Amino acid sequence: MSQQRTEGTDVTDLPTDLTRATAADLADALASKTISSVEVTRAHLDRIAAVDGQVHSYLHVDTDGALAQARAIDERRQSGERLGPLAGVPIAVKDVMTTKGVPTTCGSRILEGWVPPYDATVVTKLREAGLPILGKTNMDEFAMGSSTEHSAYGPSHNPWDLDRIPGGSGGGSSSVLASFQAPLATGTDTGGSIRQPAAVTATVGTKPTYGGVSRYGLVALASSLDQAGPCGRTVLDTALLHAVMGGHDPMDSTSIDAPVPPVVEAARAADVRGMRIGVVKELGGEGYQPGVRARFDESVALLEELGAEVVEVSCPNFEYALAAYYLILPSEASSNLAKFDAMRYGMRVLPEGVDAPSAEQVMAATRDAGFGDEVKRRIILGTYALSSGYYDAYYGSAQKVRALIAQDFDAAYAKVDVLVSPTAPTTAFKLGDKLEDPMAMYLNDIATIPANLAGVPGMSVPSGLADEDGLPAGIQILAPATKDERLYSVGAALEKALVDRWGGPILDRAPELGGAAAAKGA
Ligand code: GLN
Repeated sequence: MSQQRTEGTDVTDLPTDLTRATAADLADALASKTISSVEVTRAHLDRIAAVDGQVHSYLHVDTDGALAQARAIDERRQSGERLGPLAGVPIAVKDVMTTKGVPTTCGSRILEGWVPPYDATVVTKLREAGLPILGKTNMDEFAMGSSTEHSAYGPSHNPWDLDRIPGGSGGGSSSVLASFQAPLATGTDTGGSIRQPAAVTATVGTKPTYGGVSRYGLVALASSLDQAGPCGRTVLDTALLHAVMGGHDPMDSTSIDAPVPPVVEAARAADVRGMRIGVVKELGGEGYQPGVRARFDESVALLEELGAEVVEVSCPNFEYALAAYYLILPSEASSNLAKFDAMRYGMRVLPEGVDAPSAEQVMAATRDAGFGDEVKRRIILGTYALSSGYYDAYYGSAQKVRALIAQDFDAAYAKVDVLVSPTAPTTAFKLGDKLEDPMAMYLNDIATIPANLAGVPGMSVPSGLADEDGLPAGIQILAPATKDERLYSVGAALEKALVDRWGGPILDRAPELGGAAAAKGA
């Protein structure tokens, strides 16, 4: 059970169970010394011990490290030091981010046992801002996937229904939030891995503008598409984390040298009056589940009621986004993953029956044993697309399509301030349903991929529950590059309207662990 908070508190709106509080409310209570970071961190560690056996959100829980950081931040606060806005609020970190002294596997066997000697810049920023790191969250191997089923350590489960996927690749981070095992989490989004997991769990996630958050210390998937970003249960919480994670980093040559956009201010103002919102014609209709579409249409109508002007916008080249992505991503991934050569990190396998194996034989045996099927599939695809004689036909054409998609965005943003679509075409599907059909798995990201190809920011906000299955759906908001704050204006306004429409946060309607605890009589 969670720790009870200090008696005599004057923070009346903080729930007794601290794991149910928003990060913003925890931050206020910490700042006023109503609660301590040790108390908040303990409450979450207790929750993890009680439920993660069923959800499997974490690959590693750093109990001692988290409590030590919490203690240190409490001491600094007691001594009167001025601390950042999220100081003392614990967080879960996706296992794609290196953490000094804490294992980092990226969901792969090939990195099993690797303990990085350095922190990713994002992690350094979290530590400097005083957020205790609870542990590392599960993910599809090397962030390839939409369900966490490609994790070498077994899938995470959707807290709404434990037989369903929590999205991917960042399903550990989404399920951590939806099962109240952390108030905040980090993610990376190369084709949708922050936004799609948020959509299927009724949580919030942002892919910032490319270069808005440092990539230094992230295990690279496709470097021209990868973007780290914040995950939370509310739009304001997500904004507070975005402000901590973002900003220029000289260690990342593609990092934007400008201040973080005013995301927190935008989330607090929650104002869409006079904003022009474009509904993307190509991202909807056929292939999208009726309940997902209904919640999307309803959200758009709410935004119109709040004073936004809504128009339909066509982005004709989005049709080719998935095809271009599945040439560009494997190409870059095949190159990035070449470094796992059995010499530098993690696992080393000696080929059987070979007396004095060559370096190549050791590499081949290690990569065969260490990489899962999806990773091998993409490496083969990527090396083929990049091979001499095919480069222009495949990689070159895909890059041209990428330019056309960026032009579609430019043309759209000449007319509107933001674009919207459903985040994912369906609600959470059953574990196992799409595992044998890579195309079906890839189609999950049909609406999220264009933003990665063009480098523009995107966010997923819960839009409600689909009538046919009672599961969460998400609405995606997209903005022009560097205008990330617009996501938060629209997201926060819609979130408020939907809290009225549903009589509270949508996540509050989730049965405790998909009803599993109740079913077992627990
Ligand atoms: N699901 C997509 C893929 O498998 C996106 C992955 C990601 O964003 N990391 O490539």
